[in-house]
Amino acid sequence: MSRSYLQKFKLLTGHVQNFLRISTFPPMATTRRKFIGHTAFSLSAWGLSPAAKAMDGNVPQRLRAVCVGGHPDDPETGCGGTLARLANEGHSVTIIYLTSGEAGIVGKNAAEAAEIRMAEARAAAKIIGAKPVFAGQIDGAGMVNNEWVDKLHELISREKPDIVFTHWPVDSHKDHQCASLLTIQSWIRHSRKFDLYFFEVCTGNQSMIFRPTDHVDITTTREQKKNAVFCHQSQDPQGIYASGSCNHALMENFRGLEADVPAAEAFIRAGQTLHFG
Ligand SMILES: [Zn+2]
Repeated sequence: MSRSYLQKFKLLTGHVQNFLRISTFPPMATTRRKFIGHTAFSLSAWGLSPAAKAMDGNVPQRLRAVCVGGHPDDPETGCGGTLARLANEGHSVTIIYLTSGEAGIVGKNAAEAAEIRMAEARAAAKIIGAKPVFAGQIDGAGMVNNEWVDKLHELISREKPDIVFTHWPVDSHKDHQCASLLTIQSWIRHSRKFDLYFFEVCTGNQSMIFRPTDHVDITTTREQKKNAVFCHQSQDPQGIYASGSCNHALMENFRGLEADVPAAEAFIRAGQTLHFG
């Protein structure tokens, strides 16, 4: 039976006091002081810092992380820095793309666009250190039905994940919502045995009403993330980082300010595993 990521972290580092202190914080009712305390825990937990390792002499075991995104470039922009950190620290990372970006290139038909965008995604995943998987839905025609609940659950289960990332479901893009809802269904079918975190993309334009519970310092992997995003040449990567409708550079800076680090990615944690896992 798999344990939650935080249970494993507790076992690995023996930071029981930290765990208990954090687990008593209702995520949506934090004061700023509690929020920073929470963030500090998250940063150390996710980073498995050398100091923490040295303190108890334990070698962290290899965790298995999965990220489910609606289109090629979503996992990279939403949590590419975090995925790269996990991969760099020796953990296994798989990216599941719900669609292959069929509708994403003007002047190309669906098959041509998918071929280009899958190649871009493979290159991006290689930079991150992740294994790419293409689920087979069609860009712009995202579906949530019984067949796809089963299919995505099968793809996620195959990876035996400890941690899963997906879109925050309140999003203007239907495909992003589909990726999120199908992943939530799999989490429920797994009896919430893996830790589920929601990421944000193009906040304000796509992700909405996003109130983070956790931050990950991506200062050391920011360039790696950017290089991965820039593999998606068909998607105007410069615009992804600095346009009026999608400004991930600004988002990384702002989340960094919240966490008191130069650059961060933010997440909303599905909390059951933290409290009862
Ligand atoms: Zn997308």
